[in-house]
Parts: sequence; C-alpha cells; structure tokens
Amino acid sequence: MVCGGEAGDRPRIVDRIVEHGLCERQIYAIMRYRRYVFVFHQDFPLPTQVIDSLAELKPFIADCKGQFKSIGVVPTMGALHAGHLSLAKASLSQADVTIVTIFVNPTQFAPTEDLAAYPRTLEQDLQQLGQLGDIVVFAPSEADVYPPEATTRVIPPKISKKLEGEFRPTHFAGVATVVLKLLNMTQADKAFFGQKDFQQVAVVKQMVKDLNVPCEICACPIVRDEDGLALSSRNAYLSAEGREVALTLSKTLDEIESQIKSGLTDGFEVITEMRQMLIDGGVDSIDYAIVVNPVDLETSDPIRLPVVALIAAHVGKTRLIDNRIIE
Ligand code: AMP
Repeated sequence: MVCGGEAGDRPRIVDRIVEHGLCERQIYAIMRYRRYVFVFHQDFPLPTQVIDSLAELKPFIADCKGQFKSIGVVPTMGALHAGHLSLAKASLSQADVTIVTIFVNPTQFAPTEDLAAYPRTLEQDLQQLGQLGDIVVFAPSEADVYPPEATTRVIPPKISKKLEGEFRPTHFAGVATVVLKLLNMTQADKAFFGQKDFQQVAVVKQMVKDLNVPCEICACPIVRDEDGLALSSRNAYLSAEGREVALTLSKTLDEIESQIKSGLTDGFEVITEMRQMLIDGGVDSIDYAIVVNPVDLETSDPIRLPVVALIAAHVGKTRLIDNRIIE
C-alpha cells in the first residue's frame, strides 16, 4: 500500500502519491474503507483484503468452508506491532486462511479506562499486514458486534476473578464475550493469542472448553523490544523517561527468574523482592507482582516449578503488564 487518507480529501491523496514519486497510471487498486481511501501501487506489497461488515464476512467464511480451508483468527484491537504480527505469522503457517480482526472492544474497558484514547492506526496496520502475506482483515463496526438488542454476555470462568480480575472486575466478561463472538463469526479452527496477556489466554482456553467451542486456542511467545520491554500498543503513551522506568518490569522478571532458578523457594521473599525492585525502578504503583502456578494461578509457598511470575504496574498514567514462565 502506498498511502491513504480521508475519502473527501482527494487533492491530499494525489499529493501523497506524487510525494512517493509515483504516477497515477501505476495505481492498481483504490480501496474504500468507511471514510478512508487506500491506494495500492504495483511496486508495493499486495493489499490486505478488508472486510468491514458481518454481512460481507458471512459469504467469505461460507466460501472458505466450502473449499475445506482451515481458518486461523488473530483477535486484536489494532495499533499493531511486532507482537501482533508474530501471531499473524503463526496463523499463516498453521491455517489455510488467516483473518486478523481489528476491533477496539468497548465492553472490556471500564468507564475510567482509556477507550477513547486507545490508539487507532488502521492505515499503518494494513500496511504492516500487507507485507506478511495473504491476510484478510475483519474490522467490524461497533453496531455489527453489539447491536442494541444484543445484551447477552459471557460469564467468564473462575480463573478470571484473580489478578487482573481484582483490578479490572468487568474486563474479562468483555474479553470473553467479544472473543466468543469473533470465534463464532469467523468459525475459526484455530485462534492465536499472545502469552503477553497470560491470564487472558487461560480465561479464553477455559471458556472454549466449558462452552464446547470447536476452536483450538494457540498461545504464542511474548515479543519484546531489544532492551526487553514487552511490546504493547499502550507503550505509545510512555514518555522517554517513562519508557526507561517501564523497563523495570522485564528487569524484575529477569532477576526473579534467575533467583528462583538458583534455588530461592520462599514465596513471601520472592514477592517482597519483586515489589522492592519495581519501587526502586521508579514505577508509580503496583497492582500485583506475584508468582503463581500457571494452571490455576494460585500461589504456593514454598514455590514449586513451573511457575509464572506476573506483574501489573503503573508508569505515569500507563498501566503495563508483563510475565515470565519459569520452568
Ligand atoms: P491487543 O490488541 O492488545 O488486544 O492484543 C491482541 C493480541 O496480541 C493478544 O492476544 C495479545 O496477547 C497479543 N499481544 C500483544 N502484545 C504482544 C506481545 N508483545 N507479544 C506477543 N503477543 C502480544
């Protein structure tokens, strides 16, 4: 893709085509997405197909099923980074058709959270996906996902009540509901999630099992920046100093992993150390810093491997999460 812009803004779009040193003749596709126009050029990667309504998705899925093609889905809220792209790559390698969904799901945000401010970067998202291969983007409207009469919600499993559930009590009901809807809409054979949201994977796996959803949930490793910071769309909110402080999360996980692997088993000491490291590193507040069993998310003292160390902490106004499986 070359560029995009608001549909009514043709002069600006043409300027940007010229800025790229291209002539209009070489443009092979112009795609409309709601009020945006995207321009594709023969020298640039293939366009990503965008489906923006359920009405359009249904025949596409029927066609895939008719051809016995397996469907992989990657649910996202957009503002894509290399972490999301790793999930799309996993799907490309394991399913015949890969659908990346882009939907900022209002029901998983509490009224006090950052729904309105959440980054929306569709043009860049399509550009990045276009470079990976043949990917279909499903970017439904809120009215399509939550029509006014659709008041049914999923009650998430017990595992959702701990950790994130204590600090974001309505979050997993929103996540479980939207994930179930997306799995049903796309009729996915496999769905790809990041271990970055460790508890989310556990909740989705349990929900799929409990509700007999015929979809395999695949968990993919956390993708980090070179310095160790776990990639997150919310990192965009961090100032330069905030980003330095944010590194404390992965450094704390490095340190606690090496201490546990060297024989530290006292659960209380581990938690105290983690909190101290985070405070020393300058985080503004800690929601939790804990080591738990990866299956039921329960603490045990003394610690018995495997465990997962999980952190949720605030740096300025940004809430960050990270975790490490220690085996
Ligand atoms: P989000 O757009 O934040 O809802 O995330 C969509 C999916 O991308 C979720 O399954 C996340 O766990 C996953 N994800 C987000 N960040 C990363 C990362 N750094 N590494 C791997 N997966 C990630």
